[in-house]
Amino acid sequence: MASEAVKVVVRCRPMNQREQELSCRSVVTVDGARGQCFIQNPGAAGEPPKQFTFDGAYHVEHSTEQIYNEIAYPLVEGVTEGYNGTIFAYGQTGSGKSFTMQGLPDPPASRGIIPRAFEHVFESVQCAENTKFLVRASYLEIYNEDVRDLLGADAKQKLELKEHPEKGVYVRGLSMHTVHSVAQCESIMEMGWKNRSVGYTLMNKDSSRSHSIFTISIEIYAVDERGKDHLRAGKLNLVDLAGSERQSKTGATGERLKEATKINLSLSALGNVISALVDGRSKHIPYRDSKLTRLLQDSLGGNTKTLMVACLSPADNNYDETLSTLRYANRAK
Ligand code: ADP
Repeated sequence: MASEAVKVVVRCRPMNQREQELSCRSVVTVDGARGQCFIQNPGAAGEPPKQFTFDGAYHVEHSTEQIYNEIAYPLVEGVTEGYNGTIFAYGQTGSGKSFTMQGLPDPPASRGIIPRAFEHVFESVQCAENTKFLVRASYLEIYNEDVRDLLGADAKQKLELKEHPEKGVYVRGLSMHTVHSVAQCESIMEMGWKNRSVGYTLMNKDSSRSHSIFTISIEIYAVDERGKDHLRAGKLNLVDLAGSERQSKTGATGERLKEATKINLSLSALGNVISALVDGRSKHIPYRDSKLTRLLQDSLGGNTKTLMVACLSPADNNYDETLSTLRYANRAK
């Protein structure tokens, strides 16, 4: 079943200082054992909460370590065996996407999915017998539907998407960097991160207005008992999506509004692709509707695994955005 390949979990962060100062109430509850999430409309106290069920539901007491071990581990393991996989976090700005993907170095349980995946890949490389690996990384950004290389000589240059009969969709001129260690992966990621387009909205001053994709490509050369070489290739896409908040709340005008429209368009294209894949009956998967989905075409669906972590704020003043994230995630499962 196609749906086995797509896993959707939700994660609710704790109330932040601003929400506490505003005496916000929590409207989100989670039943981790059942993978359920409930949300209460603060404007309709008498109504029963809306209920959603996912492949996993995590609350403040659950660590990124737990999320990694339960949900991300098998996906990354698959990549080291020659399959493609994609992990992304979805949600409004400030909901915990970076906390989940990049994480914090301390305490160790809050290290993000990305550094954990780097370690996982290099551990597999070091432990494998009779096998050689070539691990390469690339890092690109999609901003206003333009693709740019975050690790290239000129991070401002727009790159074109091309289609190759065997290679599929690729970015012409995207630089690929051979990596030998976790430290090398981390340092090039940091380098690329600094080249991203950052916008200033009312929600959060360093909110990201672009999508970025960090890809680790692994070529696996296994030698069998007869000394014959076998080549397999796996690819892990770590996707950092732009914030999903709607334009009205962000105070966007002019260029910012144009950005927001493109962000909404590509996030809905991603939602449509995933829901068509999960449905399993759709003959047509609308990959072509955005650069994001075209680029991820070989890593979404088919023989690949996808994990979406939908990040939620518990606060009553974010009710509308949180409900819209839950609905988005619900379509994708
Ligand atoms: P986003 O990337 O979606 O804009 P962040 O990951 O930057 O949001 O999270 C906003 C703030 O909330 C950060 O200070 C982050 O450390 C904190 N935070 C997010 N999720 C959690 C969590 N599960 N537990 C503790 N703190 C969190």
